[in-house]
Amino acid sequence: MRNQLPIRMKISLKSIIATIIFLLGIFLKPQLTSPDILIWTNNNILPSLAQEGFIGHSIKTQPSPTSKLSFDQLQSFVQTYFRENRSISPPFTQQDIYEIFPHLRAQVSFPSTLPQDKKIAYLASIAYLQGFLWAHMSWYNQFLPYKIFFLDSPSSLRALSNEEKMFIYLDSISNNAEYREILTHEMGHVVDLGVLRGQNLQKSKIFTEFWEIKFSIDDPSILFYQISRRWEKLTLRGVTYKDFVSWYSLNDIFEDFAESFNFYLNHYESFKTLSKYSPILKSKFQYFKKLFDGEYIKSDILTAQYFEQNPNWRPWDTTKVQQKNK
Ligand SMILES: [Zn+2]
Repeated sequence: MRNQLPIRMKISLKSIIATIIFLLGIFLKPQLTSPDILIWTNNNILPSLAQEGFIGHSIKTQPSPTSKLSFDQLQSFVQTYFRENRSISPPFTQQDIYEIFPHLRAQVSFPSTLPQDKKIAYLASIAYLQGFLWAHMSWYNQFLPYKIFFLDSPSSLRALSNEEKMFIYLDSISNNAEYREILTHEMGHVVDLGVLRGQNLQKSKIFTEFWEIKFSIDDPSILFYQISRRWEKLTLRGVTYKDFVSWYSLNDIFEDFAESFNFYLNHYESFKTLSKYSPILKSKFQYFKKLFDGEYIKSDILTAQYFEQNPNWRPWDTTKVQQKNK
């Protein structure tokens, strides 16, 4: 059953605790119905949406060509709302988002008690991130969608994901800015496992998923893994923590991918700065630069200045690095 697939997670304590909780999670995680599988395609039916960044959409449900909401409006709202803990009213409705991204109706589930303005903000954050990936990452068109569950149940985790499901534990996340970075980190897992896939029938015996042989030898993620790893867990000779963007990335190839994914997209200048001090980080930076066609979401100059003064310092995880500046 698909629910038995390994799940990677992100927590805020030490990696040893992460491992224990992960093992517990295998037995305790909630049983869910199978996600609907939709096929995403890059087609030219709606050139106006394509120009605004929405170049992919569900072939099951066509977006309305009369949508009032533009990508620029979405971007502007998300960037303001999630910059800090601010309560601003969304200038559009849930329906407006569904009109341009109808798949989100089935993809995202919220706790019934969540206030409407929060639902709109979280939906907007997902629509914006997906829109960015569709616009700037050609691989994203081959995507099999996943389900996103927002949960208000108490948890020691902040989020966890595999290629089919993402769980976000709202009560464990301290502020809006951290949420947006966690969403990006989790999307990194989805892209790593669900989007970047090889075609070759021959599987890699070196880069496995928790020792399970699973990835094709031409899986594009392997090009990233092999920059600093000999195999799933073991780093290459001479590699140190300075060759990773955070301590959490040292856990395994999957956390390294998701952390680097978030660091590149939300702390572009910091990644660029650190890559001056480590040829390995430079290769990782170039990998993502190529993947996103040179585009990114936030430059975050302030954090880059901190790294310039402290090039040997690493955050525990990249989703909290910006709080260093506050
Ligand atoms: Zn993770």
